[in-house]
Amino acid sequence: MARSHMRHLSHAILSGAILAVMVLLGCATARTDLSCEGLVSIETVPSDKVDILSACVWQTEDEVVVYGTLRRRVYTTHPMAVHVHAVVQDPDGTVVEEPCTPNVYVPQRRHGRQTRWQRFRVPLAVVPPQGSRVLLSTHNASQCENQ
Ligand SMILES: [Zn+2]
Repeated sequence: MARSHMRHLSHAILSGAILAVMVLLGCATARTDLSCEGLVSIETVPSDKVDILSACVWQTEDEVVVYGTLRRRVYTTHPMAVHVHAVVQDPDGTVVEEPCTPNVYVPQRRHGRQTRWQRFRVPLAVVPPQGSRVLLSTHNASQCENQ
């Protein structure tokens, strides 16, 4: 009985190790952080309502996405809706595309309670050429100008 328990345990450890290796390999091969590797630079346009805390450009096997986090700057009592507007410029400054998110609801800010951040993602139609710039800004909730 003790022996079968041990076998069960080692089996569990083994499958856990295999899973960990698969996850590591998956990250290494399937996803590239273009911004962290210096291929694409990101600039955020300051807003008086919402901060863009962090953003990066990820390329996976089937898509390119700008990921980031929003935090609201002002203390108000209701959730705030904005859309995130991305402008992708190639190294010559020509606008490649200008996608934006649907409305993102940024949670209200309270001391010590609940998360105050909201993540967003902007899918890109094409992989930005090396040396591109991505400008991110937030606009009031409304239909995105380009859709
Ligand atoms: Zn906009």
